Amino acid sequence: MPLTDTRNDLGDADANAQDADAIVRHYRSLCTAQVSSAMLFQSAAGCHVRDAHGRDYLDFLSGFGAASTGWRHPRVMERSRAQSERDLFAPPVLATREGAELAHMLLEVLALPEGWRVVRAAGGADANEQALKAASSLAAARDRPGPHRFVCFERAYHGGSLTTLALSDRVTLSLGPASAGHPHPRFPLPATSSDVTQIESLIERDRSVAGVILEPVIGSGGVFPIAVEALRALRDCCTRHGVSLIFDEVMTGCGRVGAMAASHMLDVTPDALTLGKGLSGGTAPLGAALLCPELAHHACRDADTTSTFAWTPFACAVTLENLAVIEDENLAPRAALHGQALRVALAHALNSAFGDLVQVRGVGLMVGASVRAVGRNDWDSGVIRRIVVRCLKEGLIVGASWDWKHLLLLPPLTISLEQCDEGVAKIARAALATARGR
Ligand code: PMP
Repeated sequence: MPLTDTRNDLGDADANAQDADAIVRHYRSLCTAQVSSAMLFQSAAGCHVRDAHGRDYLDFLSGFGAASTGWRHPRVMERSRAQSERDLFAPPVLATREGAELAHMLLEVLALPEGWRVVRAAGGADANEQALKAASSLAAARDRPGPHRFVCFERAYHGGSLTTLALSDRVTLSLGPASAGHPHPRFPLPATSSDVTQIESLIERDRSVAGVILEPVIGSGGVFPIAVEALRALRDCCTRHGVSLIFDEVMTGCGRVGAMAASHMLDVTPDALTLGKGLSGGTAPLGAALLCPELAHHACRDADTTSTFAWTPFACAVTLENLAVIEDENLAPRAALHGQALRVALAHALNSAFGDLVQVRGVGLMVGASVRAVGRNDWDSGVIRRIVVRCLKEGLIVGASWDWKHLLLLPPLTISLEQCDEGVAKIARAALATARGR
């Protein structure tokens, strides 16, 4: 289809309805990304999304957690309109009022100790890159020569850039300087402090290790919280050997787990903490790496480069408003409460369909669920795939881990208890229909 045809169609809702599939095909023919669904969004508000056919969906995914305050929150929209009439863009070499306000607010809401600093980033992967650069620079200063390696974990995801992807468990990368012949050491998620012993002996003997990067709750890998005892042991281990502990809170941050950061809740302070996704409420790309004083010193000295699009005044303004909404509407404690109710109801619904083959996990409004395969020691990806598709037919958007083994629920933090019940009723119907056909 010629591009001009698509443009015309995009301007017209009825034509959209007819041509949603054609647009997806057209997109696939032009872009390398394999968009996985023929669903075309037409509009979204709060916890609801409408597709090109005019069908409404309750959204239990919120753009993988990006729309933290729900789609098009009125306050965020108002701020975005007001900012559009002022500065939209400033190159990152310039200081902006909005940027200074946002850095101040982030350090305040995250209640980080004195001397912590912010590195601006254009998104989650970029924020992780900034933290890794600083950790690498500090390691070199501490007589740990590069090229550096970072301890990472099974089922982790840290982004789509070369280094962050090499630290993720999603793909086996055989390209690029970060991974070629020099893979990052990957461990199973530690469940106890004794599981950290192996990691510690590697850090002790291998001076190329500059740090450890982890998601306090594994997110798109299927929602697996790392045991607090293991996190504390990792903290002690990194301190003992002078390497950096980086918490990737791109998914767990900004209220999602029931606190502004998982590190708060767990009372474990990393050396660097990264944020993205829910920061701006899905309105503009923005990320941040928060660094302890020593890392901040090295970030300034050796690695002070960021993206052209990091922290534009527009992105900062909408993020300031979005964070203010999270605070004013008490969305973090609400996420803890509603998440607990959601997990209980979900476990009941899935147990009714699959009995004790079900496992439901999560913290706050980050919820995962899996069903054991019959006669195999694995999770059943076919069942999760069918539940996801049936939920869509029921008018509910849910997600899955990249290998389809785990159901992924990340509703907007504004979700009400009634909407939690409504969504779970849809999942229950989808699960029962799937169990019958098993
Ligand atoms: N870290 C985590 C934990 C994530 O979930 C993601 C995105 N799924 C990223 C990093 C990458 O963020 P972005 O897509 O904004 O680069």
